[in-house]
Amino acid sequence: MIKLSHIKKIYETSSGPLQALKDVSLTIDRGEIYGIIGLSGAGKSTLVRCINMLERPTEGTVEIDGQDLTKMNEKQLRAVRKKIGMIFQQFNLLSSSTVYENVAFPLKLAGTDKKTIREKVMPLLKLVGLEQKAQQYPAQLSGGQKQRVGIARALASGPSILLCDEATSALDPQTTQAILNLIKKINRELQITVVIITHEMKVIKDICTKVAVIDHGVIAEKGPVIDVFINP
Ligand code: ADP
Ligand code: ADP
Repeated sequence: MIKLSHIKKIYETSSGPLQALKDVSLTIDRGEIYGIIGLSGAGKSTLVRCINMLERPTEGTVEIDGQDLTKMNEKQLRAVRKKIGMIFQQFNLLSSSTVYENVAFPLKLAGTDKKTIREKVMPLLKLVGLEQKAQQYPAQLSGGQKQRVGIARALASGPSILLCDEATSALDPQTTQAILNLIKKINRELQITVVIITHEMKVIKDICTKVAVIDHGVIAEKGPVIDVFINP
């Protein structure tokens, strides 16, 4: 369902061109929890941002359900992006909006009416265990609760793909485990394909079905987690 073919990404920087991705090809099947692991600066974030075209690849194609996103204009991309939710290490919540308003935000942007918004937001808050926190502000929440809001917001437009950019890296081990369990539940119950980028082996071993190891903009290895990381 997600097919990246021969992706190159060059950033123009003040000290010259920087090749963040060099000929990356990757296929992610429907229903998978696909991990992308590598050191800081390896190109993970660039790679995942190419999936929703937050970054346009310099070369190569990005296909989702057979449609090539690199050939689309901004209007077409907006429609496809509804299929792709994203969560971040620093949560990226609106600090002067309530939990409810944060989750409602993408729907409001899309022009959804208030009644429909309410019918979508409350079940999402229930799904992530925050129905009692609808009127709180992000500053009143723990890190784990903030990421739950991020997850609910990412699911608001009914995506079939969830991209997770170091989503548990700012959380303690116990909270990380709870968020990973929630992501697993979302994958299973809502049939959402998940792509996780991380520098933590534990995240890969805990919930990923497949993994790609990225190093200096190149995929060093990829395959089922048990094949790539053989446990003694
Ligand atoms: P990772 O997520 O694995 O830490 P990134 O994809 O963020 O790696 O970065 C890969 C390389 O591209 C790094 O050398 C980084 O400095 C560079 N890079 C990332 N984003 C930009 C940008 N917007 N402009 C210039 N260079 C960038
Ligand atoms: P507006 O678009 O004028 O901001 P909304 O109806 O979107 O009005 O929301 C007004 C306030 O009511 C917001 O603070 C929101 O958090 C809250 N709110 C709206 N619907 C619900 C609901 N079903 N449960 C809890 N809070 C809600």
